[in-house]
Amino acid sequence: NNEEAAAKAAAVNFDSEAPTIFDKIINKEIPASIVYEDEKVLAFRDINPQAPVHVLVIPKLRDGLTELGKADSRHAEILGQLLYAAKTVAEKEGIVDGFRVVINNGPGACQSVYHLHLHVLGGRQMSWPPV
Ligand code: C5P
Repeated sequence: NNEEAAAKAAAVNFDSEAPTIFDKIINKEIPASIVYEDEKVLAFRDINPQAPVHVLVIPKLRDGLTELGKADSRHAEILGQLLYAAKTVAEKEGIVDGFRVVINNGPGACQSVYHLHLHVLGGRQMSWPPV
């Protein structure tokens, strides 16, 4: 449930600068279903999908971007590249007419991996508000 998810997220936030599981995915140390990749950005299927299409879009270099709230002006370019990659993923996955991009920021939003990632969700009717 949501309270458990928040507690879990808070527990992993004790050292937000530590490497995350996403480093292993970037370095191909653990397998992932890669949907899109370029020099700066990697997109792969979420292991616990919340919609028929659920892809995570991440910067290959975290560079302090543990969460969106840590962004500063030097990150503006990569932030744009991530959003543009999200649109490319939506097109490739055939959901460009109805998709959602989500960033969970911090324990209050149930962020669990402290390497910035955009969730690209679609393939079903997305309801609003997202609760
Ligand atoms: O926004 P939040 O930090 O909660 O999202 C992390 C996401 O990373 C989750 O949706 C989780 O299923 C996914 N994940 C993954 N592969 C892993 C670890 C987590 O796809 N090895």
